[in-house]
Amino acid sequence: MTNHELFQRAQQLMPGGVNSPVRAFKSVGGEPFFTVRADGAYLWDVEGKRYIDYVGSWGPMIVGHNHPKVREAVERAVRDGLSFGTPCPAEITMAETIIKLVPSIDMVRMVNSGTEATMSAIRLARGATGRSKIVKFEGCYHGHGDSFLVKAGSGALTFGVPTSPGVPKANADLTLTLPYNDLAAAQALFAEHGSDIAGLIIEPVAGNMNCIPPKDGYLKDLRDLCTRHGALLIFDEVMTGFRVALGGAQAYYGVKPDLTTFGKIIGGGMPVGAYGGRRDLMEQIAPAGPIYQAGTLSGNPVAMAAGLAMLELIQAPGFYDTLAAHTRLLTDGLQSVADGEGIPFSTNRVGGMFGLFFTHEKVHSYAQATAADTALFNRFFHGMLERGVYLAPSAFEAGFLSSAHSDEDLAATLDAARAAMRQARAG
Ligand code: PMP
Repeated sequence: MTNHELFQRAQQLMPGGVNSPVRAFKSVGGEPFFTVRADGAYLWDVEGKRYIDYVGSWGPMIVGHNHPKVREAVERAVRDGLSFGTPCPAEITMAETIIKLVPSIDMVRMVNSGTEATMSAIRLARGATGRSKIVKFEGCYHGHGDSFLVKAGSGALTFGVPTSPGVPKANADLTLTLPYNDLAAAQALFAEHGSDIAGLIIEPVAGNMNCIPPKDGYLKDLRDLCTRHGALLIFDEVMTGFRVALGGAQAYYGVKPDLTTFGKIIGGGMPVGAYGGRRDLMEQIAPAGPIYQAGTLSGNPVAMAAGLAMLELIQAPGFYDTLAAHTRLLTDGLQSVADGEGIPFSTNRVGGMFGLFFTHEKVHSYAQATAADTALFNRFFHGMLERGVYLAPSAFEAGFLSSAHSDEDLAATLDAARAAMRQARAG
């Protein structure tokens, strides 16, 4: 079977041929490839072609694909059964590990995806404050819960439906949106609605409108604003957690949220999410308290084993310094390739995540990210793909490096980029 044949079949069977929209290549054009194997920094498709992978399953694979330590932990766990429906010891180790590594977490609840984590966190914020409005940022993505598909990022932005049909107006009306990195707008919104706001949720480094770091002091100013108005500050660290630093963006920027959501890396590649934070808040979750949230497969022993093996590996001394240095090599290298070719280009990066923009400007805002040249990006994307380098198939997604990406992989990527940029410029 070829990639094309599989995609033809898939489209008859699944909406758009995929189980998650951005995978379909709709915004970059063309057709997706079908992966049959992944190892280290590479994916192999069904036709035997190898790709250097900068998507990393959209973030989780920070130690590379199919890491032997993670795989062996899963194999060991599987021998003892797949799901128990009772508490299991690995859940305690997982909770202890997250609490040890992330400064603001006193208690944690495991769930099965980032979407579940964010939905649960805002229910808790509403339940705990008795208020109903939440604040989110234009271009930020917090999963596909109704409250969040209002001016959302990621696939919602890529496909031009940032506010999805099917979200009841009454629900959308409770979500207030703000421009990212604009403190004055946040101050004005809180001045008007402060006493109705249960919580403000933010990607502390935005990664779903490409990659946009917060301006200096911005997160701290939001912290102060929330505290002053009695609203909870929720960091959605589904992407940034264990990615920009071992303690996540909150450790990197030194700002303490009330609640935090996780996903991706803590599952080691298995379907896992979590939310946690202040003890007095988390104790309001059932069965300790009245705010309900549950999950048949939550805390699944196999998923816990994968996540714990991953969390062990990333605690190796120097792990994040090396990852950040490699990410810098990549973004600096791409910048000099673009400069050499006379192509307008800028990059952002924090720890092991990065963003590439076809524009002269340093990008700090959603407006700038959406104004960059997406047609040029799409041509560049395909030029890279042809040469065996897989970037996220949308101009509005962040890229991810892993510890498995070698100097040779980076050099090969830059060689491909030189040719792909030339080709992209030619149109
Ligand atoms: N929050 C953020 C910041 C994300 O990047 C994502 C997914 N990319 C989610 C939430 C949703 O996570 P999931 O896809 O696991 O539901």
